[in-house]
Amino acid sequence: MPELPEVETIRRGLAPRLIGKTIEEITVRESKMFSGDEEAVIGRYISELRRHGKLLVFILDDGHAITVHLKMTGQLIWKPAKSASEEAVMGGHPSEGYLDPLPHKHTHVVIDFSDGSTLYFNDLRKFGMMSVLDEKGLEELHFIQKLGPEPLDKEFTSDYLAQQIKKHPRVPIKSFLLDQTNIAGLGNIYADESLFRAAILPVRLSGSLTSGEVRNLHAAIGETLELALLYGGSSEKDYVNAIGEKGTYLKIAQVYHRTGQQCVRCLEGTIERVKVAGRSTHYCPECQH
Ligand SMILES: [Zn+2]
Repeated sequence: MPELPEVETIRRGLAPRLIGKTIEEITVRESKMFSGDEEAVIGRYISELRRHGKLLVFILDDGHAITVHLKMTGQLIWKPAKSASEEAVMGGHPSEGYLDPLPHKHTHVVIDFSDGSTLYFNDLRKFGMMSVLDEKGLEELHFIQKLGPEPLDKEFTSDYLAQQIKKHPRVPIKSFLLDQTNIAGLGNIYADESLFRAAILPVRLSGSLTSGEVRNLHAAIGETLELALLYGGSSEKDYVNAIGEKGTYLKIAQVYHRTGQQCVRCLEGTIERVKVAGRSTHYCPECQH
């Protein structure tokens, strides 16, 4: 499942190609992967490409929006008009053959733009979703999502984190971090990496963190995500960034998927793995407390 750095990297890759493009036609080839009225957005142009947590949101000039959730195996591939010299752009699951002639059997929605370029929404396992929303629908979505603040936005402060933890003192801090209503976009990889960076054990109850630890954790989340963005996200197994390259963050991950390896910080501990909130959780038993 892509996390904030992956979806943000896709957004940054697609934005310069898609902003200003006018939608000429939408072809839905798999109805269960599309909701809303596609006719409502014909002739509209994309004015902005946003991200809400892990959801991509294409804002149209009249206030409608198209949202895309890639889930586990979704891909977005944009191809320029045949005559254009630009390169195709692709983000999401790097399944074999993603550059096969499009559309193919895993292509479920096709958006044609008036300049002759095309956006393909592919999904091997069909868990993803594309939706057309009107202005009211977009507002409701924000309400339904109840997402916490974006961890790289100004509103995500150390004070916010401390207050939110006070509301959920009895859950392991790892579970707290994965709850999208507390912080939007943080997932398994970056929760583990942030806790390692802050030297906090993932199983600790949130309420047991000292105010100093909360401040360290707040800083660690920002540093971890900034670093991941710099590296184009991670390339675990089901993600490539929007220029078709695998992210390289996992090469520098310090605990994630490093079970049994020596800790890079204390050089004494061996990275262990436990389940917290049903998710594999990686930590150093020596230098995380
Ligand atoms: Zn260690």
